[in-house]
Amino acid sequence: MARTAQRARTVTLCLLCTLIVGGIMPDITVAARVLKQGMTGADVRELQERLGEWGYALQLDGKFGPLTVAAVKAFQKACQLKVDGIVGTQTWTELGKSPTVTHTVQRGDSLYVLARRYGVSIEAIMDANDLTDEIIIIGRQLTIPTRQVVTATGQSLAAEAPPEQVYQVRPGDSASVIARKFNTSVPALAEANRLSDPNRLRAGQKLIIPGWQGNMPRFVWPVRGRISSPYGWRVHPIYKNRQFHGGIDIVAPVGTSVRAAANGKVIRSGYMGAFGHGVVIDHGRGVTTWYGHNSRLLVKVGEKVRQGQIIARSGNTGVSTGPHVDFRIKVDGETVNPVHWLP
Ligand SMILES: [Zn+2]
Repeated sequence: MARTAQRARTVTLCLLCTLIVGGIMPDITVAARVLKQGMTGADVRELQERLGEWGYALQLDGKFGPLTVAAVKAFQKACQLKVDGIVGTQTWTELGKSPTVTHTVQRGDSLYVLARRYGVSIEAIMDANDLTDEIIIIGRQLTIPTRQVVTATGQSLAAEAPPEQVYQVRPGDSASVIARKFNTSVPALAEANRLSDPNRLRAGQKLIIPGWQGNMPRFVWPVRGRISSPYGWRVHPIYKNRQFHGGIDIVAPVGTSVRAAANGKVIRSGYMGAFGHGVVIDHGRGVTTWYGHNSRLLVKVGEKVRQGQIIARSGNTGVSTGPHVDFRIKVDGETVNPVHWLP
């Protein structure tokens, strides 16, 4: 019995040698690496590592269990392969590609917007494209070093489908206005809503906003005045380096009434370093508003405030070059351009 097994092994080895010599080995290598549920070993571990590079976090246990199957299926779906959970030649080929995506710069894009959309840092995009400053020209193709599977419009497919919000089109809205409001793009909106012509929207129409998690209240201006420094990249007036300005600076004489932009609850009121005497109001659903550089604070943490209520007197405290209110809106901790959200 043992001898028979021995002989069978020898025959197999010889057959293998013949095939190697005959140049058929590459096919055998590929065939041997077809992986499916239930398998274990170094190949499965390698698969799990590759999937990890694409943003599918898996335990590297070398066991092709249900979680690995789910990740393979999600990957196959994202790559438009046959979704069977079996790792064959095509799936290996796709896994071997570098997880980057090419993005053609469109009107309204900025490195900040792209970094947010693709979930990578601004520095990573600058490095990948040898950019020396943040200026990007419309039409330029950028390599985005994403570690996630993304569609052509930048929607992440790696994690679960992004939370979506329905937005009702208002009179005067256009696709580009809505895209700018939500830090998304017109193609992304068109795809999410299967719009054949995104330039033809009607008031009242409901649109799904891809990736949007917040739910903005209607705001009023905290003070009226000239905007001395807009939202976005700027050379810092004091530090003289390039910084992202997460708010708008509204010029207001010291002592001007600063009003709550919407109903909410005060979650911070006090000295906030460079932001000076500041107030933060929580409006629910992940939305907060920030008011900086005040001279006096008139509300306390925990207090409920109504839209238009006076919460502070403006000033010039913290790092500031003149009397103004630094007004910010954040959604889930990230700033958005307040101008798009103010009447
Ligand atoms: Zn500011």
